[in-house]
Amino acid sequence: MEMSVLPLKLTQNAPNSLSLSAKRQKRRSTPFPGVLSVTAVAHPRTTILQKKAPAEEQKRPTPGRERKMVPGVKHIVAVASGKGGVGKSTVASNLALALSAAGHRVGLLDADIYGPSQPRMMGISGRPQSPDGNRLDPMENYGVKVMSIGFLVPEDTAMIWRGPMVMSALQQLMRDVNWGELDIMIVDMPPGTGDAQLTMAQDVPLAGAVIVSTPQDIALLDARKGINMFQKVEVPVLGIIENMSYFSCPHCGERTDIFSHGGAHEESGRQGVDFLGEVPLDIKIRETSDGGKPIMVTDPDSPHSKVFREIADRVWDKIEGASAQRTMPKIVMQ
Ligand code: ADP
Repeated sequence: MEMSVLPLKLTQNAPNSLSLSAKRQKRRSTPFPGVLSVTAVAHPRTTILQKKAPAEEQKRPTPGRERKMVPGVKHIVAVASGKGGVGKSTVASNLALALSAAGHRVGLLDADIYGPSQPRMMGISGRPQSPDGNRLDPMENYGVKVMSIGFLVPEDTAMIWRGPMVMSALQQLMRDVNWGELDIMIVDMPPGTGDAQLTMAQDVPLAGAVIVSTPQDIALLDARKGINMFQKVEVPVLGIIENMSYFSCPHCGERTDIFSHGGAHEESGRQGVDFLGEVPLDIKIRETSDGGKPIMVTDPDSPHSKVFREIADRVWDKIEGASAQRTMPKIVMQ
């Protein structure tokens, strides 16, 4: 098999070159004979959208740096995991849908630049429009507004971006999008605790972070790192969700603790953070998410959807409670 690297240059002068290049390609094949996939290598001084990213946004953040709010967006909550494959995106989409079902205006930002799954999970294809050539309209499905780098590059494109470039792209996906008024924006974070994640946690005005983990030790070790990262940059950890918590056999109903069970619950106690709920390992969750029709949409009354709704209520109560506390008047007797 022949390997090839095709540089996709995104320059200030040709702002939409990323999308134009992408347009020229058929979504799942490349126009280059013998080349199976395309790798996008972005130049550090490039942007996805026309607007030039302010120079300061490309710099490494410093502790205590001001986190600029996103106009119209009341709360931003990160869904994070210490490592990939634990179901972070599945939880993020179902959580967004559960919040929407509860009557909140919800946006979902897929910040997993290296492996964007929200276009597929939310059942959205096509490209976002830019009415003024400057800002993008978000895509929308099931009542949730969605933005993802996956709408702008072909699905099999490998993004080879360093931390500051990732942050610059994410800042644009967050701030140069016509989100309108949102009660809450769920951010599906890139997995891990590297440079991009830390920068994101530092630069985005997060109301809090939700950590997704599977129950076994190795995943919990990574979850612990995630918790530490958010605590270091003073983002409240709203709690841990144990995903793939147990397997309930669809035929005989027997329950099996494939990855052991309860590890995340115990860990939340050790770390002094709340436990938000457990989501079982269930083929219906996989099929619905991977098929673009999350279980919150296809079977909103199922026990699994109930779990997501309960988690959504807990998350909402916590961030609303915290923001009410911040704005509560303080009476001083003199
Ligand atoms: P991550 O975002 O952590 O990389 P994903 O959300 O993409 O993980 O999930 C990885 C795979 O596991 C997907 O195919 C998804 O459908 C499946 N999956 C996630 N959570 C569950 C679950 N609770 N039960 C069954 N399959 C799940």
